[in-house]
Amino acid sequence: MIRRLLARLISGRPSSEPRIYHSGDHPVRRDAVPRGARMVTEKLHEAGFKAFVVGGAVRDLLLGMPPKDFDIATDATPEEVKPLFRRAYIIGRRFRLVHVHAGAEVLEVSTFRAPQTKEDATDEHGRLLSDNVYGTQAEDAARRDFTINALYFDPASEEVWDYVGGVADIRARRLRLIGAPVTRFREDPVRMLRAVRLAAKCGLAMDPKTAAPIPKLANLIQNVPPARLFEEMQKLLLSGHAAETLAALRAHGLSHGLLPLLDMILEQPLGTRFIEVALAGTDARVRDGKPVSPAFLFATLLWHEVLQQWNAGKARGDKPLPALLEAMDRVLDAQAERISIPRRFEAAIKEIWSLQPRFEQRAGARPYRLLEHERFRAAYDFLALRGQSGEVPAALVQWWTRFQDAGDAERQQMLRPEEAPKRSRRSRGRGRKRREDGGAPPPPEAH
Ligand code: ATP
Ligand code: MG
Repeated sequence: MIRRLLARLISGRPSSEPRIYHSGDHPVRRDAVPRGARMVTEKLHEAGFKAFVVGGAVRDLLLGMPPKDFDIATDATPEEVKPLFRRAYIIGRRFRLVHVHAGAEVLEVSTFRAPQTKEDATDEHGRLLSDNVYGTQAEDAARRDFTINALYFDPASEEVWDYVGGVADIRARRLRLIGAPVTRFREDPVRMLRAVRLAAKCGLAMDPKTAAPIPKLANLIQNVPPARLFEEMQKLLLSGHAAETLAALRAHGLSHGLLPLLDMILEQPLGTRFIEVALAGTDARVRDGKPVSPAFLFATLLWHEVLQQWNAGKARGDKPLPALLEAMDRVLDAQAERISIPRRFEAAIKEIWSLQPRFEQRAGARPYRLLEHERFRAAYDFLALRGQSGEVPAALVQWWTRFQDAGDAERQQMLRPEEAPKRSRRSRGRGRKRREDGGAPPPPEAH
């Protein structure tokens, strides 16, 4: 019996009976769960239903990390959940769940679901097309991705219910898929990205059986709808471990086709430096709890493609600004086929890029106008990255750093002389620039 149980736990196959870890067997106390989530589970209990905190929150609490959000799983249907709360809304058409508002918190309450087994539930690659059948708690555990994500915490009893050996995996700091890895990755290829992200974020080692099939299945990512990929990429890049995660994606053969040419970009000395600097900066901000802008991040990841096409356009004789605008559109269009970056981000990304040439203009009223631009800060931070990676001279970045904080008189002094009529513009502009920048070469993109 014990041997059977052990065998089952080791194989990662879900059991129909949970192993229950009592309050003394694990370190998570109920006061680690915010009031709103506790209130929701209590109300559901009072109404005679099961209710647990589930998923990422239980995993993070057991690992001693602060959870992002507290999701709740119950055997009550959405129609049974809704009337129990004053502010509760059923959302989702295909997969219905309830959003319960408690003060400033919004709790997601979902009904236990069963894995899909019907023949027509998958496409020709084995990808699940729907996932919306209510089931038992054991089935709900089985349809989740990793053992450590399938744990249920009851704040009232402080028990952890484990159908899949997740607690043992947490203790061993091991990331393991529930069930047969190849099938589970085929069902949903995004799980490969989640595996890499969660291993990096939580400091876990991937179980060898989970890791083994990834390089062979990596191309299945191509079948994932672009909007879903965008969502996952955003999570990945804003995890606070983006640099590490992207390196791991490459190591597992997953980076290809995610961001087109990502591999190529990372192999160019300038591109590597640029993205490294950008990701290190973002990771530091996330870890310090500061806000980060997805638009800025995607602008950095795609910049070297834009730069390449921009330079090619200029080499063909196109004027700098139209060449830049065309390069931007091309890169974003190519990107849309793989990861659809939402429109609201696209506008901001374009602004960050298209403001770059304006930093070269340091005469007359132009620098003042640029300072006033509502996206100046992001564009300046972007310029600073270009400086750090060696793409533009440090002196240009320093000039803007000083100009921002300088008083009126100093600003006037810093301004470059207005450019003379076209004929003599080139030679004069260059000679002066070089001297004032302390001998630094003119920026490669000077125009
Ligand atoms: P994070 O901390 O990034 O939010 P998470 O594990 O909570 O990580 P969510 O996307 O919020 O990630 O998912 C909540 C839960 O839903 C997971 O813990 C897991 O149990 C389940 N889940 C999420 N994505 C999948 C998937 N692709 N396949 C199966 N189960 C999934
Ligand atoms: Mg979550």
